[in-house]
Amino acid sequence: MKLVYTHQNGILVGSVKALLEQASIKVEMKNEYASGAVGELSAIDSWPEIWVSNLDEERAKIIVARLQDNTPREEWVCAACSESNDAAFEVCWQCQAFPPIAP
Ligand SMILES: [Zn+2]
Repeated sequence: MKLVYTHQNGILVGSVKALLEQASIKVEMKNEYASGAVGELSAIDSWPEIWVSNLDEERAKIIVARLQDNTPREEWVCAACSESNDAAFEVCWQCQAFPPIAP
């Protein structure tokens, strides 16, 4: 088995899992329920993880890379509320809107 994705945000990990399964890749999750309560950001070794078989590793990595292409690398301005967000935020900190997709 190979680890192809991990993130402290279990919702993101869940959507990656769904994408991989859509591509007929068999996925195994570890630490799915390990993340601590809000405000208690856990160490990286207890983030939820997505594992796939060695055979599916290449395909899975391509899918994950494509997904991460859509996440902003620079500070971005929310289209919904005009708040500026740090590049690390996957959604607007104020209104939870998604960032504009890069052209
Ligand atoms: Zn916003």
